Amino acid sequence: MAAYNCSKCPGYCCSYPLIPLNSRDVDRLARHFGLGFEAARKKFTKKDGDQPYAMRRKADEHFGRVCRFFDTDKRRCTIYEARPEICRTYPGGNGCGYYDFLVSEREAQKDKTHIATTWNK
Ligand code: SF4
Ligand code: SF4
Repeated sequence: MAAYNCSKCPGYCCSYPLIPLNSRDVDRLARHFGLGFEAARKKFTKKDGDQPYAMRRKADEHFGRVCRFFDTDKRRCTIYEARPEICRTYPGGNGCGYYDFLVSEREAQKDKTHIATTWNK
């Protein structure tokens, strides 16, 4: 069983500088929004180095920048059913380093809603 709870997390992993999509992800987003592939590619992604479909991002008061599909008030994904493959598989194992850090910071601060930001991957 996973030792982390994304529903209690402010979504740190959605603030990663590079969220790489593949063409199937762009296609899924296109269908979700009733767009063609090209329109979805332009609207939701941009080239970033070797990555042809890097997720576009937007400002976030806690982490600086965050995925364009992240609800910055509710701190959750707005396209859960259509989210990219990388978001479906992350963090991979049973643990999440950021979540462990968050729990220890919340205990230290005695604040269950504290948003820990000084974390390095
Ligand atoms: S940082 Fe970890 S706990 Fe938080 S949303 Fe991402 S995977 Fe879930
Ligand atoms: S698509 Fe959803 S889960 Fe993936 S990074 Fe964006 S907000 Fe987070």
